[in-house]
Amino acid sequence: MEKIFSNRYFSIVTQRTKTPMKIHEYQAKAILAKYNVPVPRGEVALTVEEAVAVAEKLGGGAVVKAQIHAGGRGKGGGVKVARDLDAVKAAAEKILGMTLITHQTSPEGQLVRSLLVEEMLPIEKELYLGIVLDRASSSLIFMASAAGGMEIEEVAHDNPDAILKETIDPGLGLQDYQARKLAFGIGIPAPAVNGAVAAMKALVKACLESDATLAEINPFILTKDNKVYALDAKINLDDNALFRHKDLAALRDIYEEDPLEVEASKYGLNYIKLDGNVGCMVNGAGLAMGTMDIIKYAGGSPANFLDVGGGANAEQIKNAFRILLSDTAVKAVLINVFGGILRCDTLANGVVAAARDLNIQVPIVIRMEGTNLEQGRKVLEESGFNFTVADGMKDAAEKVVAAALGAVGGGKQ
Ligand code: GDP
Ligand code: MN
Repeated sequence: MEKIFSNRYFSIVTQRTKTPMKIHEYQAKAILAKYNVPVPRGEVALTVEEAVAVAEKLGGGAVVKAQIHAGGRGKGGGVKVARDLDAVKAAAEKILGMTLITHQTSPEGQLVRSLLVEEMLPIEKELYLGIVLDRASSSLIFMASAAGGMEIEEVAHDNPDAILKETIDPGLGLQDYQARKLAFGIGIPAPAVNGAVAAMKALVKACLESDATLAEINPFILTKDNKVYALDAKINLDDNALFRHKDLAALRDIYEEDPLEVEASKYGLNYIKLDGNVGCMVNGAGLAMGTMDIIKYAGGSPANFLDVGGGANAEQIKNAFRILLSDTAVKAVLINVFGGILRCDTLANGVVAAARDLNIQVPIVIRMEGTNLEQGRKVLEESGFNFTVADGMKDAAEKVVAAALGAVGGGKQ
């Protein structure tokens, strides 16, 4: 059978409805420093003058690093080693305000609004340390590799054995013997092992106490004088735990997020941008997946999905609609809702109010089921708008895909 039930959507829904909060490298390093993970001296700079002032404090030359919520900056031209103040100035002028495109940004790239200016360190070896949440073992896993630096994704893909792993006991943290095993395993020389073990254990503590879902140091460097440092740092925070970390919640940088996703989060809505042309409004992540699969099955492609959750009110429905329709890629909208706590008539009233206020120009297909279905149908019928009310999921998907293709006039209001 044709592969239509796409894993991509499954992973989008499962990961993105529990979106971790990303933070900048300089913020991640500040957290690590609090836990005594050695980091280079440095400061964030918002202007070229500030960058030069930081470099002066550091003694002249410095590394100038673009701060965006994406890795791969080194390869994309966002990290420059500047030998003296003139070079720092030139690097800051070049990087600040540039649109940096890396394999982790969108194809349009990300505007650089701040820099991290750091002391230069004499690198002997670039290693890798990382902690990820492993759903299979319900634990954090500590990973370490001698092949650190900018190619770790390729190492993980081509030579997974080059990455050593230890499971972290949630009660005990990383134990000394585990850290020593990893340190020796990645070739840290004996005089540097104690420093590396301390840094690894501190990284785990920082990760656990911050409720991070990912904490990564790449490269973790060894210097010629046998010291170790976190030269780069990435921490993702579990947004479900941010209520107990007000200081960490304040690190959010909405300039790095999709503007429509930010807008949706203001109303407690979950909006995910995709690349097709059918806008989807659903309630619940499971129904979102089902809806996207069936749109694909009908030969179409979702432009986004907006999950209004279980208990949305008419006002939220209206905001959801506004957000969905401000995506210019949307050529038709499918509303697929199971009326449980959100009753069908509440949904219908919200949709009609939104259609009145927002002067909706695209065809709208509605499939609803559940509590107060008849009342909901009546609201739609008496609204004076030409909504297409579908009979079941399959019918809804076929109708909305056809409407997006322009095959039917649909409900041009
Ligand atoms: P990423 O490409 O976004 O992961 O950015 P990184 O912070 O990892 O920097 C990329 C590369 O720049 C590192 O792998 C290093 O080789 C280099 N780099 C970063 N900081 C320094 C430094 O202080 N000294 C030197 N010599 N190189 C550095
Ligand atoms: Mn890196």
